[in-house]
Amino acid sequence: MNKLLPTSTAGSLPKPSWLAQPETLWSPWKLQGQELTDGKQDALRVALQEQQLAGLDIVSDGEQSRQHFVTTFIEHLDGVDFAKRELVRIRNRYEASVPTVVGAVSRQKPVFVDDARFLRQQTKQPIKWALPGPMTMIDTLYDGHYKSREKLAFEFAKILNQEAKELVAAGVDIIQFDEPAFNVFFDEVNDWGIAALEQAIAGLQCETAVHICYGYGIKANTDWKQTLGSEWRQYEAVFPKLKTSAIDIISLECHNSHVPMDLLELIRGKKVMVGAIDVASHSIETPEEVAATLRQALQFVDADKLYPCTNCGMAPLPRQIARGKLQALTAGADIVRRELEIS
Ligand code: ZN
Repeated sequence: MNKLLPTSTAGSLPKPSWLAQPETLWSPWKLQGQELTDGKQDALRVALQEQQLAGLDIVSDGEQSRQHFVTTFIEHLDGVDFAKRELVRIRNRYEASVPTVVGAVSRQKPVFVDDARFLRQQTKQPIKWALPGPMTMIDTLYDGHYKSREKLAFEFAKILNQEAKELVAAGVDIIQFDEPAFNVFFDEVNDWGIAALEQAIAGLQCETAVHICYGYGIKANTDWKQTLGSEWRQYEAVFPKLKTSAIDIISLECHNSHVPMDLLELIRGKKVMVGAIDVASHSIETPEEVAATLRQALQFVDADKLYPCTNCGMAPLPRQIARGKLQALTAGADIVRRELEIS
């Protein structure tokens, strides 16, 4: 990108109330059949327009065609039985009812490629597309077949790589893998998690990003954050290996979090999507608050490598608040961009 500080979101935006229950993760669809197909496309157009009106530089589908960032992808794969559910502890944090891996996993046909092609038709702006990361996928399932988190992660990485290559062919500019599990299972991340991610991006003719956050602003996550103490140093465990990895961009939660900003020094040289919008709060940041977070990050990230972003997805937020936060993000980035251009 030529423009300094190109803005984007981590991924999801709220869905319209005619498509799904507002402010709810995993909300069932309110439409069916062709109406649902059309409704998802209309919602994608609205999400795109919201981003464009706010002045975002890199746009996405706002994840309007997915119920959930992990399970919707898995639903399209063979080898996973969604009727056979087990209660497991996910992210080492909360119990969730998840589907079961019952056989070899495979992708018979593309999952999001039609949606990406549709988005590509609507805009000439750079497009970022989010996929779940391999480690986060396995952590949202019960594995009754491979009996090995590592083995299953590499199987998913192969599938993600197939999907990603087709997304690039459909015109996607940046593929982002969402890996909140990277903030939890540090030994596994270093042993094989980053290697699995590299398998997922192998040979991709586009930029690649990994999004590592402290989760949506839902109660299980905000309760967990209360236990993390005054300094959140989780990133420290995975940054050294990420720095030497093949991934181009690292997307992080920064604003209002207790992550010490100087941890970014550990990934100096990488492009960083700096979360400057708190998605766990309904209060809308001022542009000056956003600018303050970006200025802090600029102490450790070169200006041409800093991408202002949201901390995480905005799916559970009321639409008006999400809209206000997007506007704050671009206004805050404008302030700092002007400062950089003057100096
Ligand atoms: Zn996130």
